[in-house]
Amino acid sequence: MSFQIQMIGTGSAFAKKYYNTNALLISNEFKLLIDCGFTASKSLYELGLGFDQIDGILITHIHADHVGGLEEAAFRLYYKYRKKIKLFVPALLAHKLWENTLRGGLENAGENLTSLSDFFDLILLEEGVKSMLHDGLSIEIIETTHIPTKTSYSLFINDSVFYSADIQFIPGLLLDEVLGKRKCSYILHDCQLKGPAIVHATLEQLLTLPTEVHSKIYLMHYEDEMENYIDRAGQMTFLKQHEVYSFGT
Ligand SMILES: [Zn+2]
Ligand SMILES: [Zn+2]
Repeated sequence: MSFQIQMIGTGSAFAKKYYNTNALLISNEFKLLIDCGFTASKSLYELGLGFDQIDGILITHIHADHVGGLEEAAFRLYYKYRKKIKLFVPALLAHKLWENTLRGGLENAGENLTSLSDFFDLILLEEGVKSMLHDGLSIEIIETTHIPTKTSYSLFINDSVFYSADIQFIPGLLLDEVLGKRKCSYILHDCQLKGPAIVHATLEQLLTLPTEVHSKIYLMHYEDEMENYIDRAGQMTFLKQHEVYSFGT
């Protein structure tokens, strides 16, 4: 089944022009927000959407550009909309997400609130297990290297799209697993425009992939100077904020 992805932001962690790289995935009327960074609520507001109109939020890893908007989402949902939406969290991240990231702001905020489950319909994801999030929408998480010793996941969406959260350049993963074994049709990849490569793949590294796969690669999580690099990305496409892209299965 086809689905749409509308990036609510496409910028790097510290970009100012393009907001945090977070994606609104729409499948069969189901709206899933992939990551909820500190610019998420503003971007959704610009699209005319409130958190009550999102059906679920999925978290890939714990960095502010991916989870920094969850406190506002939780408060808005609890106090304004009186509604719980689904929060999909890799099982290994759930404890840290509450204890080390959200608890300070959310705990006992006026009422006896002591866990993620008080604000969200919490659903834990396990690596290697394909989860049906909704009719026609499956997601499988795979642990990928972003910062050594930091747990971080990328996604296989409907067995056809690989969505890197934040990852280093791992050509074996892309060529052997994503394109070879799993035969994904598209790769949505974070891309740092300038080196040195430390915790993200750089454009220069991604360009070393065989040219015949470049047209399958869509770039996100880039710096504010992206427009200067459009001509230097070969057949790879820079995803644009708020544009709607359709992906078939
Ligand atoms: Zn990031
Ligand atoms: Zn990150």
